Amino acid sequence: MVFFCFLVDQKRKVSNSKPAAGICSRCGGGASVADMKTATRFCYVPFYWKSWRAILCTFCGSILKSYR
Ligand SMILES: [Zn+2]
Repeated sequence: MVFFCFLVDQKRKVSNSKPAAGICSRCGGGASVADMKTATRFCYVPFYWKSWRAILCTFCGSILKSYR
């Protein structure tokens, strides 16, 4: 039996974060600078990792600014 899988998704992970100056425009929560990792997965197997840095809201988790 052949199993076809065409599922591609992305998983985002915060690997390191520090408090930063700034306020979330959505909820008014505190901001933090985070080192992010995005894994692109095919059939749940990561085949591509991308590291990037972003300023996140610590309360609601929205991305306020991203650096690439
Ligand atoms: Zn927020």
